[in-house]
Amino acid sequence: MDEPWPDDILTVSCLRAADTNSVVPGSLVKTCWRCEASIWISPATLDHVRNQPHRLVCMQCALEVASKDDDPKLLPPTADQLKELAEALGLEPPEDPDGPPKADG
Ligand SMILES: [Zn+2]
Repeated sequence: MDEPWPDDILTVSCLRAADTNSVVPGSLVKTCWRCEASIWISPATLDHVRNQPHRLVCMQCALEVASKDDDPKLLPPTADQLKELAEALGLEPPEDPDGPPKADG
């Protein structure tokens, strides 16, 4: 597939379902736009991109696209994504120095 990648569409990289056993609760199975592999998209990711044009691709395709693109529009992970990923993996979520104070309970 050699068509140019549009500049105004976000590339959202997702883990391939076949590559991970650690899935964020509530994740949905989607299909890689490029290679049609099954991929997981987490609720925070979906929420982050749902109001803007985007394409969901697997990590492998994201890396390939980025390597061919002078100015790849790859989304950095958001704080919410990092948090749910940490929770899914049983890790402490990273501290967010700019975030609101933690409300326990
Ligand atoms: Zn792919």
